Formats: sequence, C-alpha cells, structure tokens
Amino acid sequence: MATRKPDCVAFREIWRKMQVEITLAKCESMNKQNFSQQLKEWFFLHRRLLPWRENPSPYEVWVSEVMLQQTQVSVVIPYFQRWMESFPSIRALSEAREEKVIKVWEGLGYYSRARNLHSGARYLTDNHGGELPSTYDELSRVKGLGPYTIGAILSFAFKQKAPAIDGNVLRVVARYFSIEEEVDKRRTQKKIEELTLSLLPDREPWIVMEALIELGALICQKRPSCPSCPLKEGCSAYREGRAELLPNRKKRPEIVTLHRAVALITTGRELLMRKGEAGKVMADLWEFPYFDRNVDLEKALGLSLTSLQKFPEVTHGFTRYRATLYPELFQAEHRAVKNFSWVSYKEVEKKALSSGHRRILELLKNRGYIEEHGAV
Ligand code: SF4
Repeated sequence: MATRKPDCVAFREIWRKMQVEITLAKCESMNKQNFSQQLKEWFFLHRRLLPWRENPSPYEVWVSEVMLQQTQVSVVIPYFQRWMESFPSIRALSEAREEKVIKVWEGLGYYSRARNLHSGARYLTDNHGGELPSTYDELSRVKGLGPYTIGAILSFAFKQKAPAIDGNVLRVVARYFSIEEEVDKRRTQKKIEELTLSLLPDREPWIVMEALIELGALICQKRPSCPSCPLKEGCSAYREGRAELLPNRKKRPEIVTLHRAVALITTGRELLMRKGEAGKVMADLWEFPYFDRNVDLEKALGLSLTSLQKFPEVTHGFTRYRATLYPELFQAEHRAVKNFSWVSYKEVEKKALSSGHRRILELLKNRGYIEEHGAV
C-alpha cells in the first residue's frame, strides 16, 4: 500500500501560525491598546513633517516610497518635489519620455526603480484610467510594486489595515518580540508581517503603521535609543538587554572596491561619451570613457591624446561597489570612436549621468574649463 506523502506546505503553514501565537502569548505584558496609544502619542509629538505625509494621494505615496528605498529622507525631499512638478499625475508620467524620467531621477541611484515607475504609470493609464487601484491583488500586477510598497499604499493612501514592513518596522518588531530567526528568510518576514498586523488597531490603523516606521527611523535605529522609546516597557529585547544583537541578519555580501581611470576627452567643444548599455547597472546613464588604471587609453580608444590636466579623485558608491575614479582631461581631434559619441558641452548638461561622472563634470565646470571654451 502506498504511503501518503506528508503535506509539507500545509504543515509549515500550521507551524508558522503556531509560532506567531506563541510569540504573542509570550508577550503577555503587551496590551495592544496601550501599545497603540503610546506609539501614537510619541508619533504626534516627534514625527517629521514631510511633503508626502499630509493627506497624500496614492500616487504620492507610491513615488515617495519608491524613492525612500535605501535613500535618506533628506535626500529624497527635493527629488520628490521635482518629480511631482515634472510629472504631477500618473497620466503625465505615462506620457513622459524615458530619457526625461531618468534625468529627473538622476543622482538617486537604482535607476530600474525610475523605469518601473514609468512602466507602472503606463500600465495604470492603460488599465485603470491613470489611477492606482485599492486592492492588494490589483496592485501586485503593477511592475515594481512589492509587498512593502503595496502595504504602504493601502495603509497611507487608502487608510486600510495593512502591514507595510520596511527595514525600520522589521527592526522594531524583531526586537519588540525578540525574534531570533534570520529576518532575511521569507518565513520570518511572514511571521513579522503577521505580528505587525496583530499590533494594528481597528481604529486608524494607518497612524500606528506610520508611527512604527517613524520609530524605527528615529529611535529604534541600528544603535537603538531605548531610554527614549515609548515601547520600552513591553519590549522583550530591551528587557533582556539584547536590543543591539537583533535583528538577526545574514551576512551581507562584501563591498567590491574598484579603481578606474576616467578620460575626459575634449575637442574644445565636445566631450567623448557613451550611454550605459540596457540591462547593465548604469543602463540609460551617460558616462565618460573609463578603464582599469593600467590600460593604454590611446590604444583602447584609437585616438591620439594630449594630457591637459589631472583632477582630484572622486569616490562613488553604487550597489555593492565602491569606486575610486581618477579623472584626467585630454585634448583630441574629432574622430569617430566605436561605441562612443561626441556630445557638445551644451548637450552634456541635458544628459542623465551617473553620480560619480556628474561630479567629475562639476569639477570640469568649477575649474572654468567649459566656460573658458565658451560652450555653456
Ligand atoms: S525599546 Fe529599544 S529595542 Fe525596543 S523597540 Fe524601543 S528602541 Fe527598539
């Protein structure tokens, strides 16, 4: 007689639910109403006034949350304002050229997010009349929208009881409930999501959701300021003196260091540049020629170069790389170079550049080189 294989998925689901129940039961001291009350009082006293915070439209929540991923609030504010001026609605964004979208995003990094916003806007214009829908399932069909952004839109824009688990919330909840499991695992994240949902009150749940994010951003940071925390009485990690040890994270991949020679090659009126290849990290961004430092530039480009000036090093971080750029200005004759274009000084200004190469361009301008040659 054939034995029936145990239903592992169902078993794991039951096990996970049990774990959530046990975690909640362990925190007997937790009084949900007190928790919400204390958190709300703290939030109303300490929250930051942000341009996307007062009665935001779903589109404003979407854009701000995408911009805030791995970027500090102070950096995002001017970008958010500029974006909203350039593309005031989903429809306006859907009608914009991709080059303009990338230009407005220039400097924020992670350019696939800008491209996803753009294609998401086109999808919404074609399928939802240029509006964001208000259900999880419909939102999950929009390109680039993951569980956190969907939760944030449902919570902050549509005022629904929905968990929005970003890094801040993950940290607070993992510490509050002393969760030992690795938070990079989907199973642990699901558990944190359920615990967060259990903390949200029926009345104005979006305020508590936003307060949790703000608490993680301002108090329960990597190095937590527990004595100033409104939740310290109920917090397990604080009680056990283990706040700094949690959350339990997998080791991050090591940072890769790069050293690159950047050649600013000018004819006196133009600079040699190329556009990053589609699918690569710097896709759609314009860059000056760059090489490993030991490469023979004349041979690599097929040009005869006269060195005019060396500029100070520029350091530049992107994804898991830390690059040191060594810019040098060269004079050359206007000749075709495979995979590169000659771009007039005036046109360079309109291009979206990676932040390292943008800083090099600024060096060139600050040294008066471009003005001197009468092109800008
Ligand atoms: S008491 Fe400390 S560890 Fe606990 S939530 Fe507050 S800041 Fe975080």
